Amino acid sequence: MPTPTIELKPSARPLPEAERDAILADPGFGRHFTDHMVTIRWTEGRGWHDAELVPYAPLSIDPANMTLHYAQTVFEGLKAYRRPDGSVAIFRPESNARRFQTSARRLAMPELPVETFIEACQTLVRQDRAWVPAHGEESLYLRPFMFATEVGLGVRPAGEYLFMVIASPAGAYFQGGVKPVSVWLSEDYVRAVKGGIGAAKAGANYAASLLARKEAEAKGCDEVVWLDAVEHNWVEEMGGMNLYFVYGDRIVTPELSGSLLPGVTRASLLTLARDLGYSAEEGRISTKDWRRDTESGALTEVFACGTAAVITPVGAVKSNAAEWTQGDGQPGEVTLRLRKALLDLQTGAAPDPYGWMHELA
Ligand SMILES: *Cc1c(COP(=O)(O)O)cnc(C)c1O
Repeated sequence: MPTPTIELKPSARPLPEAERDAILADPGFGRHFTDHMVTIRWTEGRGWHDAELVPYAPLSIDPANMTLHYAQTVFEGLKAYRRPDGSVAIFRPESNARRFQTSARRLAMPELPVETFIEACQTLVRQDRAWVPAHGEESLYLRPFMFATEVGLGVRPAGEYLFMVIASPAGAYFQGGVKPVSVWLSEDYVRAVKGGIGAAKAGANYAASLLARKEAEAKGCDEVVWLDAVEHNWVEEMGGMNLYFVYGDRIVTPELSGSLLPGVTRASLLTLARDLGYSAEEGRISTKDWRRDTESGALTEVFACGTAAVITPVGAVKSNAAEWTQGDGQPGEVTLRLRKALLDLQTGAAPDPYGWMHELA
């Protein structure tokens, strides 16, 4: 089926520059949205159609919309950065486009062509280019998503969907220096199980995570670490981020178990770390390994990685049975080095030997 062309219907009244600047002075995360959005519809028998860029606005939803009842919805998250020369580039959009297809397939939804996904992101960033912040680690966060629009309470894959992209300016994740998080090892709740939807970027995974998050907060921790659903022993990921374990100059990330989310940041660090001289591998880490290797001093640092925060150090760990400080509780040297290397590449402060940055055409 041909890729639909995105028709431009821009806003007659974009936010005045002074108001936009006031937002960009302190954008936070996911609080403010740009002037436009892209929408593309899919209908059974017809495929993708009615691709448009329109003013950002609320949707009107039928109470019997299938997504509201059965959660047939998937999303992505990626960032556009402004480089020192003023140009704007998006980090690895084809990786997100491919993952979006994998997520859609798992939820019995139609797969948006990779080029259409990228074109939708590019069209929005091009139109709302003035919203791409210009300082340091700031970025324009893009949120592509798709959900069933068919109306009805019968349980089956819907025959109509809406794909959208919205954008939100994002400030530096850490204000005033990188701060380690404390984590709670969730032994009572699980996020996902092999054969389930844990490897898909689906809103339902987040719904499943919220009670454990409340539990973590009640234990005085910032984030939840998910363990495998069968043995409650193997470390999977942290909140909405993947994990890395630093053993001196060897870094290890939990292997793709079928239930954890294959992060683009995780994959990028496997490549980047090797080129910086580390050995970087996928493996299995148990909670016992984590504690024992920390106490022996072999496991020097632990960090989490994902699009929103890029890299976040883990400073303290707590479970039903134990509690320990990671290293000296401060951000580690390898963590900070990898964080800087990846951010430098993304913001254009350093060259991009991999062709990861997708410049706006
Ligand atoms: C999105 C996400 C990640 C990180 O993926 P990135 O592509 O690096 O942003 C990790 N875990 C979960 C559960 C996620 O939803």
